[in-house]
Amino acid sequence: MALSKIWVYAQATDGKVATITLEILAKARQLADTVECFYGGADADAIAAQLGAHGATTVHATGDLGGALQGVPVAAAVAAAIQGGSGPDAVLLGTTYDGRDVAGRLSVALDAPVITNVVDVELDGDALVGTEPVFGGTTNVKTKGTKAPAIVLVRPKSFAAEETGGGAAQVASLEVPDTGAAGAARITNRHVEEASGPKLDEAGIVVAGGRGLGESEKFEMIEQLAKILRGAPGASRAIVDAGWVPYSYQVGQTGKVVKPSVYIAAGISGATQHMVGMKGSKNIIAINKDPEAPIFGIADLGIVGDVHKVLPKLIEALQAR
Ligand code: FAD
Repeated sequence: MALSKIWVYAQATDGKVATITLEILAKARQLADTVECFYGGADADAIAAQLGAHGATTVHATGDLGGALQGVPVAAAVAAAIQGGSGPDAVLLGTTYDGRDVAGRLSVALDAPVITNVVDVELDGDALVGTEPVFGGTTNVKTKGTKAPAIVLVRPKSFAAEETGGGAAQVASLEVPDTGAAGAARITNRHVEEASGPKLDEAGIVVAGGRGLGESEKFEMIEQLAKILRGAPGASRAIVDAGWVPYSYQVGQTGKVVKPSVYIAAGISGATQHMVGMKGSKNIIAINKDPEAPIFGIADLGIVGDVHKVLPKLIEALQAR
């Protein structure tokens, strides 16, 4: 049995659909006969082809939001569509800032619960069941949405994006009701962090450093190794909190979820909150001087040694190739 229709929250930057949206579309296709998107912005035409190639038949777009934050107008528009009877059986969104904002407001408007932080979604009859890892990923909780529509927040990297080869999605208008003073919040400035290599959550190789590096200057070794391997540098929360690197480097429960083919953890103990963000990596290489460090429990290759000796040797060997 499948649901009749699911709406997926489409997010995009500069005409490029976010990976999380494409990942959710792949799952939504398994759950519903029809998968459509909703989008807050004026440039839906630019993303209709990408959404269509991933299985969306229609993208319901609000049009120009005049610089307003997504949450209020997008949630109001989707709630009005659902209340008016033209909406879906379920709404899937990515666990992003805007995704959470829209989901929360939609939940209030429709008096429907949100199933948060899920890494899998399945059907039980005509109800959606979300799987959420808790206690740092050691236990899974399954939550069934018993009240329609189910609103589900999906964690990045839970599903693999997959093209269907479909044509461009049709662009339809999604009416935004008057949101009054609630819609007054505006984006006044956007800061895009400079990054030269691949993005952390999309890189094929991630080299991450932790407190075992000893001091902030030693993070240079991580950056150097990442650059040689054409990967992205990452970090544990300990060194983000210490101010050695920006928060955008953080991997883990309260950071980014990564699934590269190779993850190198240098001087990282392997706290559950860190591992929940990287344990899906295909190959995990851990460098730690403590043979009892928990990270070795999930490592495919463990190097018991001092990062200050192992990393320079590794960099030297790779540079000599
Ligand atoms: P430590 O745990 O201090 O480990 C340092 C490691 O380096 C040790 O294993 C040590 O043996 C090794 N070492 C020391 N010197 C050397 C050397 N010279 N050579 C080799 N190895 C050496 N953490 C995250 O990473 N991401 C998150 O998203 C996150 N979210 C959290 C959310 C909550 C609610 C909470 C409570 C915690 C969260 N944490 C998160 C923090 C987490 O619990 C750990 O404190 C953190 O991951 C530890 O970072 P670390 O491994 O760098 O440091």
